[in-house]
Amino acid sequence: MSSAPLRSEPRILFITPEVFPLCKTGGLGDVSAALPAALRVMRMDVRLLIPGYPQVMQGLKPKRKVAEFNMLPQFPSATLRSAKLSVNTSTSIPVFIIDCPELYQREGGPYQDPAGQDWPDNARRFGLLCKIAAILASDASPLTWRPHLAHCNDWQSGLAPAYLHFHQGHKAASIMTIHNLAFQGNFPPENVVQLGLPSASFGIHGLEYYNNMSFLKGGIYYADHITTVSPNYAKEIQSEPLGFGMQGLLAARQHHISGIVNGIDENEWNPASDPYIARNYSSTSLSAKKVNKQVLQKEMGLTTDSAIPLFATIGRITHQKGYDLLLQVASQLVEIPAQLIILGSGDKTLESKLIALAKSYPGKISVRIGYSESMSHKIEAGADCFLMPSRFEPCGLNQMYSQRYGTPPLVHATGGLLDTVIDCTPSTLKDKSASGFLFDQMTANDFFLAIKQAVAAYRVPRTWQNLQQNGMNKDFSWRTSATAYRKLYLSLSALSSSKI
Ligand code: ADP
Repeated sequence: MSSAPLRSEPRILFITPEVFPLCKTGGLGDVSAALPAALRVMRMDVRLLIPGYPQVMQGLKPKRKVAEFNMLPQFPSATLRSAKLSVNTSTSIPVFIIDCPELYQREGGPYQDPAGQDWPDNARRFGLLCKIAAILASDASPLTWRPHLAHCNDWQSGLAPAYLHFHQGHKAASIMTIHNLAFQGNFPPENVVQLGLPSASFGIHGLEYYNNMSFLKGGIYYADHITTVSPNYAKEIQSEPLGFGMQGLLAARQHHISGIVNGIDENEWNPASDPYIARNYSSTSLSAKKVNKQVLQKEMGLTTDSAIPLFATIGRITHQKGYDLLLQVASQLVEIPAQLIILGSGDKTLESKLIALAKSYPGKISVRIGYSESMSHKIEAGADCFLMPSRFEPCGLNQMYSQRYGTPPLVHATGGLLDTVIDCTPSTLKDKSASGFLFDQMTANDFFLAIKQAVAAYRVPRTWQNLQQNGMNKDFSWRTSATAYRKLYLSLSALSSSKI
């Protein structure tokens, strides 16, 4: 049977500033590979558009030149190349790469220099991504392939709907997906004209946001539809405090906002076949998980003790993720007794506080600063309980990975965490839905109470095993999410002009 895209399905240009495994700073990188792959399995014609950072240029071969953009005012010349990104053995996604050495070929991260400072020309770097996206999604495109929809992701692609809005001619409809409203891409107002947008667009009904121009506001204002990565976060951002100043506009557009929970890549995150972990296991062979715990304790310099509950967390070390709360409860946690592993990088002040914490509790707390895909798998498999005290969490991926790995998550009741973790109570244990622990107030006290509750459950092997199995049996696949996106694409594709 052919797996070629069906001509009857809408064509989608998926615009993203990062994609796993080429370039990933957070959940968006995972989503940008997994969602298009799931849609292609459903025989939809989805193609990615990404900037040609060094990792992308080296990671995608061979590349074919498909267009030149030499005449774009305000931007250096760029070549559009196409390649294929293999996501797993059976799926590959066509990718358009913007090859513009002046803007993208440099040492450092996609958004920041090696010292952790935002690149000073980010407005231009991502302005070009938006401009080329809008060209490819309109009748100005040099390509014969034309999308019905431009699916934009986060602020870096937020101006594409604005460029499309001001394009005179046939064009695709647009969707703006907010993966995290805290990142907005706000720049001085002169960028409006410098990026070739009409100065009249700089107003409350347009790109203006507290006297700056905002890429994300542009997306929210001009896109035909807005999505966020969980239904609960879609509600939360329509009011204070999680609206981050955009709550008024978001509430005004409430009939054009929906929330679709991310899935997880079930091939990448599968304890039964994970190549990074010491011993593979499933919900029916959970005793093998103990081996992973032992290996992890050893590797992280912790006392090897199978009875002691091992808590862990992985992620960007930022105020958002609640590392301040973790610092506050760490000494009590060790007293329980319990152990703690932290893997991540980010805020330098928090990083040094965490390093100092680990030094005070050798053998009990271990902190690894840095990014390690393999270590993150070993932690998911080896820990007993996964902590996510996030202040806010649009969707969150680690709580889903940890449920799949039989490592019940303990999370703040916010955003996507509330949509994906079922609190352990007598009634949820009875109906077999319990899969983790939730705490309501963002305080050290509430957080620690939940930790104590988790330890109490851990001490009752039958309860703990039920929690593990309930989580492992849940469906977090992209199939469910991709089906919801497809439905949305179908309803919006009617908005794209007919001759696109
Ligand atoms: P966010 O997108 O806000 O950073 P998510 O939970 O949605 O948070 O996604 C974070 C992703 O990045 C997860 O896949 C997580 O495992 C991964 N990640 C973050 N920091 C690290 C790290 N230091 N090492 C390995 N993986 C990491």
